[in-house]
Amino acid sequence: MHVFGLTGGIASGKSTVSRMLRELGARVLDADVIAREVVEPGTPGLQSIRERFPGVVGPDGRLDRVKLGAHIFADPAERAALNAIVHPQVRAAFMEKLAALEAEGITHAVYDVPLLIETGLHTAMEGVAVVWVPREVQKARLMVRDGLDAQAAEARLAAQLSLDDKRQHATWVIDNSGAPEATRPQVEAVWRAMLAHG
Ligand code: ADP
Repeated sequence: MHVFGLTGGIASGKSTVSRMLRELGARVLDADVIAREVVEPGTPGLQSIRERFPGVVGPDGRLDRVKLGAHIFADPAERAALNAIVHPQVRAAFMEKLAALEAEGITHAVYDVPLLIETGLHTAMEGVAVVWVPREVQKARLMVRDGLDAQAAEARLAAQLSLDDKRQHATWVIDNSGAPEATRPQVEAVWRAMLAHG
């Protein structure tokens, strides 16, 4: 199985590119989706969280992310404890999904991970596509999409590794600063390049 990373920054257009890849027939595994699946009611992941962080499971049996956030906010040790529970579960679920794709005869897959580079996972990929836009475009799209003022948007951007930093690690940079019609052919070229591997 050839696995390629897809990442970007907040509001850079990663979801948009992911959708384009799927339209081209790419099988895209989404790290955010997997991270939610492994803490669904009844999972060992949620059970471990319940034991380590009492009170974070709501009356509906689901993880109360606001309560959990309050536990780990501004406490790196608690955040590390949460990651130590969740990350192995995500890794195992990811491997399972890859095996299922392999059983279908799929040879090339894309792993969509917001923090691909921050976590160092990009080094495990055969190639990395970074969805890039200039910072001002990123800020403007973030403000519109999430209804933020300039200051709030700046704060969110400042909390992330910049796209200019991320692109240093890219095998392919997808420039999403133009119209979607300008992004699509780039995505097609990247998918063709991915398929050409192996
Ligand atoms: P991400 O998944 O990286 O956070 P999205 O794909 O949600 O980003 O895109 C962020 C916002 O910008 C969304 O509102 C989306 O509709 C818009 N957007 C994405 N690509 C473009 C583009 N090429 N031109 C104009 N708007 C775009």
